[in-house]
Formats: sequence, C-alpha cells, structure tokens
Amino acid sequence: MAKKKIRVAVIGAGPAGATAAYELAKKNIDVDLYEASPHVGGMARSIELWGQAVDIGPHRFFSSDPRVNKIWLEVIGKDYKMVNRLTRIYFRNKFYMYPVQAVDALKNLGIIEAALCVGSYMIERIKPGRNDLGDTFESWVIARFGKRLYEHFFKTYSEKLWGIKCSELDADFAAQRIKKLSLSEAIKNALFGGGSEKHKTLVDQFAYPLKGTGQVYERMKKNIIINGGNVKLKTPIDSLLMKGRNVTGIKLASGEEIKYDQIISSMPITILISRMKDVPNDVVKANKTLRFRNTIIVYLLVESNKIFPDNWIYVHSSELKTGRITNFKNWVPEINNNKKETILAMEYWCFDEDDFWKWDDEKYINLAKEEIVKTGLIKPNKIKDGKVIRVPKCYPVYERGYKKPLVKVEKFLSSINNLQVIGRYGAFKYNNQDHSILMGLFAAENIADNKKHDLWGVNTDYEYQESSTITESGLVVNSKVKKQ
Ligand SMILES: Cc1cc2nc3c(=O)[nH]c(=O)nc-3n(C[C@H](O)[C@H](O)[C@H](O)COP(=O)(O)OP(=O)(O)OC[C@H]3O[C@@H](n4cnc5c(N)ncnc54)[C@H](O)[C@@H]3O)c2cc1C
Repeated sequence: MAKKKIRVAVIGAGPAGATAAYELAKKNIDVDLYEASPHVGGMARSIELWGQAVDIGPHRFFSSDPRVNKIWLEVIGKDYKMVNRLTRIYFRNKFYMYPVQAVDALKNLGIIEAALCVGSYMIERIKPGRNDLGDTFESWVIARFGKRLYEHFFKTYSEKLWGIKCSELDADFAAQRIKKLSLSEAIKNALFGGGSEKHKTLVDQFAYPLKGTGQVYERMKKNIIINGGNVKLKTPIDSLLMKGRNVTGIKLASGEEIKYDQIISSMPITILISRMKDVPNDVVKANKTLRFRNTIIVYLLVESNKIFPDNWIYVHSSELKTGRITNFKNWVPEINNNKKETILAMEYWCFDEDDFWKWDDEKYINLAKEEIVKTGLIKPNKIKDGKVIRVPKCYPVYERGYKKPLVKVEKFLSSINNLQVIGRYGAFKYNNQDHSILMGLFAAENIADNKKHDLWGVNTDYEYQESSTITESGLVVNSKVKKQ
C-alpha cells in the first residue's frame, strides 16, 4: 500500500513561511501556504509607488550562511545587482560616515569631544569588574564603549526605536544586534584600531533584487505553485484545531476547518496562543507580557534625482522624531524606472496605545516634510506628494526580563505535537530576512527530512559552520566561487 502523503499548512507568506512552503513543495510534500494579506513577502515585500518600486523601509539582504545564500540565489537567479553600501548617521546637524572613518569622525566630533570619548572609554577599560557587561542594554554598551559614546551614539536612536529607556532594554538585544549600531564600534576601530576581521554589518556591498526585495518571495510563490503547492492569499487563519496536545488542522477566519498533519506558523505568536484552548494560566500570563513596537513609514516623492548619496541615514538627533531616512534612488536603478523624482522613506516608531499610532495620514506627512527640511537635505517646495504605510507589531521588544516569560511560552509551544512556530513575529525573534529564511528552511527539513533542527536557537546562539558571501558572480564559500 502506498504511504499516505503528509499534508502541511504554512501560516503566513513572509520570508519565513514562504521559504518553508517553497522547500516543502520542492520536496514533493503537499503544502498549502495561507496568507492573510493580498500579497506575499510580509514585511519584506516590495510595493509600487508613483511608478517606482520601493520596500517597506530599507531591506538589505545579508547572510554568511551558505544555505540561506544558496536559497536566495536559487530563487533570484541572475536578477540581482551588487549595491555599494553607503550609510551615515545624522547627529547634531552633522553627518558621520558609517562605518566611521577616523578623520571624518575626528573632524565631526572635534578634538576635544573625541578626546573625552576616549577618556570615558578608558575609564571603563580600567574599572574593576570591567568584564561584567550587566544585564541591560545601557550597562552593556557603557561597559564596552564608555558613557560618552553611549550617550552620543546609542541612547537616542535606541530609545526612539524601542520606546523604553535603554536601562529597561535587555542586554540580549545588545549582544545580538549591537554591531548594527556600530558607529561606536567603528569609532572604536577608528580611534583604537579594530581587529583584522570586518564585522558582518560593515560589509561594503550587498546583493539586491532588480525589482525590489519582495521579488524573492514573489518568485518563491511561483515556484510553490509550479511544484504543486497552493498559495492562498487573503485567507487569514483564525486558530489551530487541537486534540489534546496534538494539532490536527486549522480554522480559517471564515469559519472553515481543514485537517492537516503538520502546521508551520509564522502568524503572531501572541495571537496564536491567545486563541488556543487549555493553555496553562502561567503561559497565558507570560504571553500577555510580550510587547511589540509598530513602525509608520512616510514615503515622500521629491522632485530631484540627487538628494543625498546614502542608501539610508540613521537619525540619532533627539530633536527629530524620525529614526531613519531611506533614499530608494541609491539602491538599483531598475526600481526607479527611469523616473526623475526620488522616493524617500522616513521611519517613525510607536506602541499600539500611543496617540501617535492614531494620527491621520496627512499629519504624518506634514511631520515628515517638516523634519526632512530641518535636516537641510531638501527644500519644502521640492516635495510633491506623500504616502503613509503602517507596519503593526514589527519589532519584538526585548524588555529587561523578557526571557523568562518567553521561555515559558517556548516550552509550552514545544510541547504541542505537529506544530512549529517560525519568524519574527511568529517566534518573537528580532529576525532579519536571513534568520527567517533559515527558520523556514529548518522547519521544512524537520518535516520532509526528519531532521531535528532547534528552531528556537536561530538568531540567538546560532553559529554558521562555514561562511559564504553573495558576489556579482555568484556564491563564494570559503573563498571558492560556486558557479550558478
Ligand atoms: C522597516 C523595516 C526594515 C527592515 N530592514 C531589513 C533589512 O535591511 N534587512 C533584512 O534582512 N530585514 C529587514 N527587516 C526585517 C524583515 O522584514 C523581517 O525579518 C522579515 O520580513 C520577517 O519575515 P517573517 O516571515 O518572519 O515575518 P513577516 O514578514 O512579518 O511575515 C509574516 C506574514 O504572516 C502573515 N500573517 C499574519 N497573521 C496571519 C494569519 N492569522 N493568517 C495568515 N497569515 C498571517 C502576515 O500578513 C505576513 O505576511 C526590516 C523590517 C522592517 C519593518
């Protein structure tokens, strides 16, 4: 008798869910990918605005993991270009190169301030117990970089992004992402000399699809269908069907119930649990403590094709509410469609309960116009139009002590059979695309190949076994170029 084919439902078609379904369909597993919105790609989708393609904020793809890079290249083929990365930090009316160059930093900071930064760094170096980095973001950064650099280049940006004091932000965030805020690392390198290895966030080039980041996930969708899978857009999942500790299927928001053997979920972890039956009280309580931060992106259409040369600029200045300004003219020319105008995207962050989240579009657009003019980058009469996109719950907040309740939630979910949770919101992980792709791949392999990957380990203590880089001519693994 032929073996019964496993049926899998994947919830959410962002990078994590799309990758899981793509891999399962490739391996001839029966898979249905359910997506609540009308499009695939989740936060990493691309959209058309004023005849150009833009992403939901800046989306630079980067991974050192050969498996992730292999999938990315397999899907995008030759339809990508390498982009020279240029990013700066705007702080107190000045632009700092990122990564910092010694002369530029010294010129901007001034000799006295630079000396004070070095002094404050030295104090931390000679302090007794200096290897104790503390359990908060603030203590971790100060112990590593000194108070002055922390106050100049970490505090304001981080507090804008996370909406809580750095002394309330867990040190985990620093350990995982500190390199992202690497002005100080770069200053440290510039002032004190860095190691020989360039940190991964400081790479000078990255690969970018010709039609925007979302092209990868659009292609995955096509391939899923070609390989016999189904992609069901505008089909939100309400909840899981359970029998004791086993998941037996899904319930659509329409009320329809469908049986499956295995479920991979990238829908919000908090919503998933809140709709499950017989969840222990302590897990319910723990689940309620997990918080997310929202993003509001204001796109401005500007009548100019040469505003500033950066891919994006981090805005550290506290007098401006925006945290980052992206210039889509400086990614690949194909996304601009030969238009003379430039599209800028300005990011703002808030919580659900903040009054700021409830503003109408016009108010955000006016604020963005006012702030971009304040930076001196453009004149008000050059702004032709504006558009607002709200991205709810896109940053899992690593509040001090968040790990204890999260571990409770993780343990509970791990005790449920036939269920794997993946993704940024799905697993409460501050993932980039590469981490979500890897989680999707691992979840698919656990089902199709009987592997025992630990999904919770991705993007925490996960280490690459061998490193690789995407280059113009393909994948470089351990210095060898693998031809496509
Ligand atoms: C402003 C911004 C900038 C970023 N910059 C970068 C960058 O430079 N580089 C990088 O690599 N990453 C970047 N990221 C992160 C990247 O977007 C995420 O890591 C990635 O999109 C996460 O993929 P995911 O599949 O885990 O989640 P998502 O992309 O959130 O996908 C989840 C999907 O599930 C769907 N869904 C939710 N609930 C349901 C339901 N009940 N039923 C069915 N479907 C449901 C959602 O509609 C969504 O499509 C950025 C993110 C933001 C917001």
